[in-house]
Amino acid sequence: MIRGIKGVKDILPDEAPRWQVIEGAARRLSSLYGYREIRVPVFEVTDLFARSIGASTDIVEKEMYTFQDRDGSSLTLRPEATAGVVRAYIEHNLGASPTPQKFFYLGPMFRHERPQAGRLRQFHQYGVESFGSTSPQADVEVVSLLWRFLSELGLPGLTLEINSLGDAADRLAYKAVLLDFLKQHEERLCQNCRRRMGTNPLRVLDCKVPSCRTATEGAPKLTDHLAPASLRHFEEVLAGLNALAVPYLLNPRLVRGLDYYTLTTFEVTSQHLGAQNAVGAGGRYDGLVEALGGPKTPAIGFAVGLERVALMLPESALPGRAKMIYVAAFGQQGVPLGTRILHELRARGLQANTDYRSATLKAHLRQADRLGASFVLIAGDDEAQKGLLILRDMTSKEQQEIPISTAAQTLATRLASA
Ligand code: ATP
Ligand code: MG
Repeated sequence: MIRGIKGVKDILPDEAPRWQVIEGAARRLSSLYGYREIRVPVFEVTDLFARSIGASTDIVEKEMYTFQDRDGSSLTLRPEATAGVVRAYIEHNLGASPTPQKFFYLGPMFRHERPQAGRLRQFHQYGVESFGSTSPQADVEVVSLLWRFLSELGLPGLTLEINSLGDAADRLAYKAVLLDFLKQHEERLCQNCRRRMGTNPLRVLDCKVPSCRTATEGAPKLTDHLAPASLRHFEEVLAGLNALAVPYLLNPRLVRGLDYYTLTTFEVTSQHLGAQNAVGAGGRYDGLVEALGGPKTPAIGFAVGLERVALMLPESALPGRAKMIYVAAFGQQGVPLGTRILHELRARGLQANTDYRSATLKAHLRQADRLGASFVLIAGDDEAQKGLLILRDMTSKEQQEIPISTAAQTLATRLASA
């Protein structure tokens, strides 16, 4: 037997309704906030990710699915979608439009990680990207949309943490200050962090190793080293969130994995998720469009991990089962009559089903029960000859005869009032 790949999951029909609810909320809210759908490919040239995500990040260092195409070029399954959206934005010159360019996407991402609950090799994200505005109000919009999405789905125990990374100049100045501090505490850092000191010292603050966390407890804070303009931006974002009653915590250690973030950076976690507690995250990336060869364009976005959302989605967020009519057809004339009735019901937009394997009324009624039918229409040879059907109400168990010619109409009325 051939099995699916480790960390790559099937979403079976029993679980699909959860996903439909989540994706439905993503689509509905995106459109409320003026974000239009963009669909970018699941694979791109490797360089796109290497250049945008940053060489010294976990993703690029060890998580990408990269392969050689037949012509020798290097391709990669997308580990996230921002890079592809930015490529498309540049390639199709979307910035030339006079209207705000705001997009959302839904789809699978691929990272070679150790699979565990809430951590997969193929997983799904909902994300938004808002291009063109440096206004802190754009940050407020993106963060509040993320918060609304997660809270409308009724996810428990959420915390929004926020920080500012400053602009490129602030970070450069801060890096020197931070590096001074790290050098004094180098012997307490893990091997990985010692290496990162040379490549990307900010990421040391992001290290999950407990001893590294205590070692860097007293590290200088980036938010204490912001230039006046960066600080004003951050303060306006916070004031905007306060005004919309979006609750947040300041976290000066929040640096996020990706290199292209500037200014606002944020992450939502849940205490109900265990070790993989990050639900969604994002930030400003004012330098990325230009870094990938486009015009200088500020931008901000977020991405949410939908497996983690699905894990936490409460039963109450799921819709009740739709009313369904089961057609129990048997006998020489009953069976073709049943097929015709099914067709008529469906043509009226009513949900109708049967089990073609069942040959007796008893077997049909058992299946109707299992499938949760609200009504059963019985079509045997007797009924066919009399031009009638028997309508059975599965709740009251009452039965009545109805003419074949008006059966679909009768059911439509009964379901509308049920
Ligand atoms: P983590 O710290 O959990 O590895 P990350 O910083 O790598 O997260 P991002 O790149 O910011 O994650 O992606 C945004 C969201 O996508 C995460 O908050 C998480 O919900 C989800 N996510 C990331 N990697 C995975 C994965 N391998 N499996 C399932 N969901 C994931
Ligand atoms: Mg990760």
